[in-house]
Formats: sequence, C-alpha cells, structure tokens
Amino acid sequence: MPRPIQATIHPGALRANLERARRAAPDARVWAVVKANAYGHGIERVFDALRGADGFALLDLAEAQRVRELGWRGPILLLEGAFEPRDLELCSRLSLWHAVHCDAQIDWLASHKTHAPHRVFLKMNSGMNRLGFPPERFSAAWARLSALPQVDEISLMTHFSDADGARGIVHQLRAFQDATRDLPGERSVCNSAALLRHGLEAEVRLDWVRAGIALYGSAPDHPERTAQAWGLQPTMTLAARLIAVQHLQAGDSVGYGSRFRAEGPMSVGVVACGYADGYPRHAPTGTPVLVDGVRTRVVGRVSMDMLTVDLTPVPSAGIGSEVTLWGRGPGGAVLPVDEVAQAAQTIAYELLCALAQRVPVVVSDD
Ligand SMILES: *Cc1c(COP(=O)(O)O)cnc(C)c1O
Repeated sequence: MPRPIQATIHPGALRANLERARRAAPDARVWAVVKANAYGHGIERVFDALRGADGFALLDLAEAQRVRELGWRGPILLLEGAFEPRDLELCSRLSLWHAVHCDAQIDWLASHKTHAPHRVFLKMNSGMNRLGFPPERFSAAWARLSALPQVDEISLMTHFSDADGARGIVHQLRAFQDATRDLPGERSVCNSAALLRHGLEAEVRLDWVRAGIALYGSAPDHPERTAQAWGLQPTMTLAARLIAVQHLQAGDSVGYGSRFRAEGPMSVGVVACGYADGYPRHAPTGTPVLVDGVRTRVVGRVSMDMLTVDLTPVPSAGIGSEVTLWGRGPGGAVLPVDEVAQAAQTIAYELLCALAQRVPVVVSDD
C-alpha cells in the first residue's frame, strides 16, 4: 500500500472562484495567473477548469509552452518578460505577450528578428521597487517601444505592494494614472487583493485583472476577511491518515526536542505527513487540523515524514482515520489553508506552492 497521503484538486471550486473573480470586476478581462505550476496545483490539472479565463499569466517560459501544448490559443502573458534575448524567439513562435520592465528588454526587442510584431505590457514601478520603469521615465520607455517595428500593441501595467494591507493602493494608483494619462493602450493593475477589495471602483478596474491566489481559494487579506466571506472555495485538499496512536501520561513528551508535554493522560495520533510533503515545519502546537472531520490541533514538532495531533476531541479515532491538513474534510468540514498558514506565520501562497513532488495528486470529478 502506498503511504497514506494524497492531495486532491477541486475543479468545481476553481471554476467557482474564477466566476467570483469575474463578478469582482464584471467589465474587465481576467488573466488566470498560473505561475509556480498554478500555485502548486499543477497547470495540467487546473487548465480545464480555468479555460474560461481570457488569458493565462505566468513567468516561466517552459510553463508557457505547457499551456500552449494543452491547446490554448488565446493570450498568454509573461509577467516578467524575457530573461535573455533568445527568449523572444519563443515569444514569437508561441505568440506570447510579454512584460517589458527595463531598458535591456527594449534593447533585446530592438535587435530581435520577427515577422509578427509582439504585444507587450510596459510595466511601471509605481512604488513596489522590484520591476518596472519609474513614473518619470515611463513615457520615454513607451516612446522607444512604440518606435520599434518589433512591437505591435503596448499595454500598461503596474503591481501593488499593499493591496492586502493598511497602506492600500491609492498612492501607487495615483502615480500610475498621472504618468499614463496621455498614453493610449489597455491597462492592468489589479492582483487578487486589489480586485476583491477595489474591483468595483471605476478607476481601478481597468481592462485586465490578474487573479492569482483568489482562484486558488485563499483570501489575500486573511484574517481581516476570510475566504468564505469573500465567497472563495478551497481548491486543494491535503489529506493523510493516522498510522499510529500513542497514549501519553502527564509529563510525557512528543517528538523531536520534546516540544510538547502532556498535562494529563491523553491520546496522540501520528499522521503520515511531514515537512517533506510540504507541510510547514514551523507550524507550532495549536495549528488546526481535522481528524475524521473533527477540528483538533497539531502537537509537538513537525518532522520530515510525520506529525502528531491531539486526539482528545476525537476519542474514536484510530489507525486509518482520515486527517485533513487543509481543504475539504469528511462530512462537509472545511479547514481553510489560510488558517494553517496563519498559525505557521506564513501565507497560503507558500503552503500551496510548496506541495511536495512526492505527494500523489488526484483531480476530483466535481
Ligand atoms: C503573482 C502576480 C499576480 C497575482 O497575484 P495574486 O496575489 O496571487 O492575485 C498578479 N500580478 C503579478 C505581476 C504577479 O506577479
């Protein structure tokens, strides 16, 4: 028997989340962001459910190729553009749209030989300070690009640093709007957080929105607002089974470093899931988990192949009991990945992307 751990992808939830993203900006076209192998879900596994999107956005050229091989003929956007000049050959061959965020990328385009001019998304650094032209150099970059025979249509984009937080988007949106007022072209500014929180504001919505984490059922601003409150459904379940039960007495400890000590008699279940499966090693005692659909907690340190859980609320549990690390549990119970991420002091993005290669993945038929 294979080790009892499995991830399940839920296409129905992906579809529903895509619809939810659309409702957040009804007039915009939606990029389904499928970078990092569709946030750990697997591009091939999400493709059918997300093909109702207007395009796929990602940044790895090999992933772009995979999307084309799945038969997608619509737009594909490389969010970081070319990494070296010869990447533009693939852009021509697969008709990929690509971001242009620096002068070097314009130089490469200027010496690129192509019969079909490229659609590019000129990126502004409006305050994130990672990629993009600063506002004061933006129209010069636009002018340079628009003079190139290699370039067809130029769209304008920027990316928010605080769409999920207190600082918000206004300062960056202003910078973007002030510097693009006189430029033609479609606009794209919203990630999931901006889309959900501000998508209905007329000046924010613009032409294209870039939905990532919301499609994968996580609230970008958890815990201020939960996935359920946003109307998002879990798209990945990570489940395993109990492979042993230990009966502890007061003072007994569990696991490496004896991090957890029983205060009285209690049972602890040993789960076939550890950090080598992608479960966060830093999840402390108290991190939520479901056993047979009943909510309980992780106790002690997470190890490579196992973790331990408190069976006090589920005395009937035994070897073979189903453990839900995140996602959908038995009997309609749900454990949002956001809650596990929060307990482990990280974000759902990291947990979903970190699902390990060794975990078998199935696609459910709902
Ligand atoms: C990853 C990414 C997104 C999607 O972000 P989410 O927070 O997952 O919605 C949007 N735009 C760019 C440029 C990105 O790199």
